[in-house]
Formats: sequence, C-alpha cells, structure tokens
Amino acid sequence: MKTMTVLLCLICTLSFAQDKFDKKRKRMVDTQLKLRGITDRATLKAMGKVPRHLFMPEAIRNWAYMDGAQPIGEGQTISQPYIVAYMTEALRLRKDDKVLEIGTGSGYQAAVLAEIVDSVYTIEIVEPLGITAAKVLNDLNYDNVYTRIGDGYHGWPEQAPFDAIIVTAAVQTIPPKLLEQLAEGGRMIIPVGQTALHRDLMLVKKKNGKLNYKKLIPVLFVPFTRGKD
Ligand code: SAH
Repeated sequence: MKTMTVLLCLICTLSFAQDKFDKKRKRMVDTQLKLRGITDRATLKAMGKVPRHLFMPEAIRNWAYMDGAQPIGEGQTISQPYIVAYMTEALRLRKDDKVLEIGTGSGYQAAVLAEIVDSVYTIEIVEPLGITAAKVLNDLNYDNVYTRIGDGYHGWPEQAPFDAIIVTAAVQTIPPKLLEQLAEGGRMIIPVGQTALHRDLMLVKKKNGKLNYKKLIPVLFVPFTRGKD
C-alpha cells in the first residue's frame, strides 16, 4: 500500500512538472512570439512543441521559457526564443528543405528546424556542447538531425547545396564557402557586424546565381570562432 502511494505521488509530481513546462511554453508562444508579430504557422507550431527546457542545464530549466538568452556552459548561450522564431520565420522554410546550421550550441534551434523541414545538418565547434546536444537530440528521437563537431567556417561540402543556412554566431564577414553551399533559390540568415554592439541579422538570397543582401534587425550574438585550418 505504502509503495503504491509513493509511486502515485511520484507520477503526480512528474506530470505536474510536465504540465508546468507545457503551460510556460504556451505562454511563451503567445506573449513573446505572437504578440511581437511572429505569424508563420510552422514556426509557432514547432516552438509550441519542442521542450526547450530539456536543451538547458538541469539547474536552470525553470528559466527555459523566459524572455532572453540563457547560459548553456562553455561561455555559450541558447538564443532568446523570439530570436529563434524570427530567424526561423525569415528563412521561409518548406517541408522538403535541407538546412545547414552553424553553431549547434544546445541543439534547440536544430530541433525547431527539424520539426519543419526534411533534414538538418548542424556543426558545433565546442566539443562538449556538440556531444551534449547530439545526445539530447537523439533522446528526443530527432532522427532527421545530423550533428558534426568542427569549424563551421567551411560548411558541410559533402552535403551541399542547402536550401537554407542559419548561422547562430556573429561573423565580421560572411564565410565564402557558406555562400557557395547555398542552393539556387536558397536563403541564409546570419548575424554580421564588426563589434559586439553593432551587429545586424542579414538575410541573403541566391537567385539566378546572384546574391541579394538585406539587413533585418540589430542583434546581440556570441562571436563566431575559428578552429585551426
Ligand atoms: N543555435 C544554438 C545557439 C548557440 S550560440 C542553440 O539553439 O542553442 C552559438 C554557438 O556557435 C556556440 O555554441 C558556439 O560555440 C558556436 N560556434 C561559434 N563559432 C563556430 C564555428 N566556427 N563553427 C561551429 N560552431 C561555432
């Protein structure tokens, strides 16, 4: 009898915790995304589904649905939900798209993309982050996400071209290999700027082999780092 009660209490506590995160996630979508003008249905659906808290260190999971970037270790951050949504929406994704992400970090953005497109290839330069993200993505059964540890400066030539490329660390100039690996009709979103305080999200489109650049909004991002060539 006693064991039964303990078990029931445990199930109750677990489902209460689950319910708590579900509620917070719904509120995040309503107040941080919809109210600020995110309208793309696939983006809203994906962000309403992906358990963002599971991509964060256990000690700070309660902050997962707050309106900001959060630390994930190794001096890196998981981006603010609104920025994840904004970048995802800007890519105008289609179901059969193949997407490249540079900067796996926690793996959260990759999971959001994986809910929308056919396949996601993601590269992380900091090994422990890449390993943790791959594990979380695997535990959540994201079998359309392919992870790699290394310097994303060179892209993923064996899998190119990509319909969309998303870079989640700030560059001073756009790596030329990434532009090369963008498919005809492809879109790239990337934070570009010379200093931490002057960075803009840029949208690059490739049409008839020509590149078109558009400055979107000012942003704060961790810097893009380089490995040994
Ligand atoms: N998309 C992530 C956000 C990560 S922050 C998420 O959803 O959590 C940016 C990440 O880019 C960091 O983890 C950083 O280590 C990584 N990064 C920086 N320079 C890189 C490079 N040259 N190649 C691959 N990853 C890089």
